[in-house]
Amino acid sequence: MTSRSPATSLYDVIVIGAGPAGYVAAIRCAQLGLKTACVDNWSDANNQACPGGTFVNAGCISSMALLESSKIYHLLNSDISAHGIHIDNLAIDLSQMIKRKDSIIAALNHQITELFVKNNINCIHGQGKLIAPGNVEVITKKDSEQYTLNANHIILATGSHSTILPCASIDNESIIDSSQALNLTNIPKRLGIIGAGIIGLELAGIWNRLGSDVILLEAQETFLPTTDQQISHEAHHIFTQQGLDIRLGARVTSAKKGSKKVILEYQDSDGTHTLHLDKLIVAPGREPNTESLAAEEVDLILDENGFVHVDKNCCTTLPGVYAIGDLTALGPMLAHKGLEEGIFVAELIAEKSHPINYDTIPSVIYTSPEIAWVGQTEQALKAIGESYKTGISPFTSSARAHASGKTEGLVKIITHAETDIILGVHIIGSHASELIAEAVLAMEFSASAEDLARTIHAHPSISETLHEAALTIGNRALHIPPEVGMK
Ligand code: NAD
Repeated sequence: MTSRSPATSLYDVIVIGAGPAGYVAAIRCAQLGLKTACVDNWSDANNQACPGGTFVNAGCISSMALLESSKIYHLLNSDISAHGIHIDNLAIDLSQMIKRKDSIIAALNHQITELFVKNNINCIHGQGKLIAPGNVEVITKKDSEQYTLNANHIILATGSHSTILPCASIDNESIIDSSQALNLTNIPKRLGIIGAGIIGLELAGIWNRLGSDVILLEAQETFLPTTDQQISHEAHHIFTQQGLDIRLGARVTSAKKGSKKVILEYQDSDGTHTLHLDKLIVAPGREPNTESLAAEEVDLILDENGFVHVDKNCCTTLPGVYAIGDLTALGPMLAHKGLEEGIFVAELIAEKSHPINYDTIPSVIYTSPEIAWVGQTEQALKAIGESYKTGISPFTSSARAHASGKTEGLVKIITHAETDIILGVHIIGSHASELIAEAVLAMEFSASAEDLARTIHAHPSISETLHEAALTIGNRALHIPPEVGMK
């Protein structure tokens, strides 16, 4: 990523931020023949540009790389003997594990940079700020050069950061945020995590499998409250069996570094409790990056929670200024939501847009096993009085799952009681993040459970579990007794 041809160029589009929302918006704009620049400030230790945002540099990709390493270690350390394979002297080289993760990040930074170059996007390594509709001020990272770029359209895509919890200040050593938790130099013996949300659970699984005793402190009484409750009960059971100590209704009130340990206090219905921890990860949610995004006189309107206010087309209240991804409250804070909005806004600018269907955005929690869902939960349908049917298939129904030794979890399909149209699909199990794609496609085409049941799935395959769940809705499951699948 270089800084070139700045001063007086008039662009069709300037994108601020090169995370999944921003870099995809820039590429799509360029594909549509729009003269595009993308400004991004992420730098590595050598002050080099690292396009890809939190997602690539300090979030999902890092987490996924370590998730894979920790799963391999866990398999070799505990489950492998069932395969008749024995390994002596198994050891973890954490610095190599982190190096592997960093090399994956570097490869993706390089890939995005190449895509910018090949698509003739002017990529600028610097701090971008909206100073007026049509005008972006840039301060370059390399030499702090300051100049203004002009464009007919400006797309804001600066993402989000970890929420600051005043009672647990990050000290960058013992009390750390979720990004720092992906760069530990040793495996903590006793690890606390504030927040049993998506990030907290993903990190808990990694460090638990590598040997930490993990305690999750979650203020809410309900585990994963927005997930279908049957799935969250199953997840709670599986994760507890794996050794995670999940404390619900536990509101952390203070956390400080003592002489050796982190001393944490939390309150629950039994009173106040104290924990001594070797490390504490603070993962209480994320907030949009709006600080220094726009000059005060521009009057970029934010909503009551600090998100950039947009209409259903990602348009801010300023002419020709759009906001996408984690910056807005339109849809969930998910990389693929931002990515789709990037495409949508680029096509809107080029007058070719197709609306985004926010109802069929899948959610995934990259734990082991994974959790994935799309559409409505059973509790949400109950709350609105909708009549529905459910079809459930445990992974034990799949011969392939047995052969792989991955029989934990289930697939649940919810359909409209009269029309049989699929309203939601919820999965906990191996490959849930991949299996959910079939459910998303089915819902995009308003498919019924009967459509899924009539679709031929390879035998044996894990995806047959989805097929089996669809069959149970018609009360004709083949591999599970009727009372298990049908409700
Ligand atoms: P989250 O909102 O999912 O979970 C944070 C949890 O912390 C909440 O349950 C909250 O009740 C709890 N909490 C807050 N303060 C607390 C306190 N003082 N004591 C105890 N508990 C407290 O947020 P997250 O896990 O940080 O994720 C942030 C966003 O990033 C989410 O929108 C998520 O969708 C997104 N994300 C998605 C993925 C993915 O797609 N796999 C991965 C990472 C992040």
